[in-house]
Amino acid sequence: MKKKLLYTSLLALGLSIVTTIAWAWGSWGHKHIARAAVFALPDSMRLFYYNHIDYITERAVEPDVRQSLVTDKNEGPRHFLDVEDFKINNIADFPKTYPEVLKKYDSTFLSKYGFLPWHIENLMDKLTQAFKRKNKSSILFLSSEISHYVADAHQPLHTSSNYNGQLSGQNGVHSLWESAIPPMFGDQYNFKTNPPQYISDVTNYTWKMIEQSHNLVKPLLDAEMRVRQKFDTTSMYKRDANGNRVKFYSDPVYSDAYATAFNKELGTMIEDQLRLSIYDLSCYWYTAWVNGGSPDLTQLDDPKLTTRNHKNYKREYKAWKKKGKLVNMAQNTKMD
Ligand SMILES: [Zn+2]
Repeated sequence: MKKKLLYTSLLALGLSIVTTIAWAWGSWGHKHIARAAVFALPDSMRLFYYNHIDYITERAVEPDVRQSLVTDKNEGPRHFLDVEDFKINNIADFPKTYPEVLKKYDSTFLSKYGFLPWHIENLMDKLTQAFKRKNKSSILFLSSEISHYVADAHQPLHTSSNYNGQLSGQNGVHSLWESAIPPMFGDQYNFKTNPPQYISDVTNYTWKMIEQSHNLVKPLLDAEMRVRQKFDTTSMYKRDANGNRVKFYSDPVYSDAYATAFNKELGTMIEDQLRLSIYDLSCYWYTAWVNGGSPDLTQLDDPKLTTRNHKNYKREYKAWKKKGKLVNMAQNTKMD
């Protein structure tokens, strides 16, 4: 989520305050994407990542917490790219690399319209260096950081100026798509993805990802508009016990019937984007590891840790591999 559209109770941080916050994919989506990507990794990486899977899962939402709770001014624009505001007709014509974009746009412009693909590129450089240095804490920290931004890039509305349908009378579509629907229908999702491929050109791959996502903006908003025309204001919005509309700051909160109808109209778009996030994330992790010299990750953990986790690992990996399910999202039963 971007630009202070949503909130969280911040229970994850042990705080009882409510604040504006920006979740992309909601915390449900970010956590599922990061966790599933661990199982998609090749044998040489999977056991190490599994030893730290709860850290990676829980930390997947931290960049959103950082931007709102810590109000880090640099954080917000890392989560999106308002493609239309760059006034470049084809995504192929964007300045692709970090040095290139800095030559063309100043920090004020990029703070306003977003920095997402260039931030992914920067993180990939750092993660590659962390593998080269066999720096365990950096590998884990940067792996979880990348998980967040790669997931954000697959949310089509993170690539558009009309990010909340605010330019087309569809306010609230952002959180409806990414935060409300996935937990409602996620039991049916298949989290198993193909083994990662090595990315020979990371910059190019990142921009293809942005392009694929951006191409879904119109179908997504068109689908919502079709559903909108079938509902009236009585049935469209969630209401409290007194019959008043539930609001989320200035955004309406939509009824379950509306969310269900929108999800149906979208077909498999949300699950497809979530699965693509998982696959692409595993490709980024794998590529950074290869470019970092394919270090032996088993040396970074005490073998006893891997042994202690073996039973849970087998159970979780089997469920993912055979049925595409994540069975240990809620409990934290393994040793870390
Ligand atoms: Zn985000």
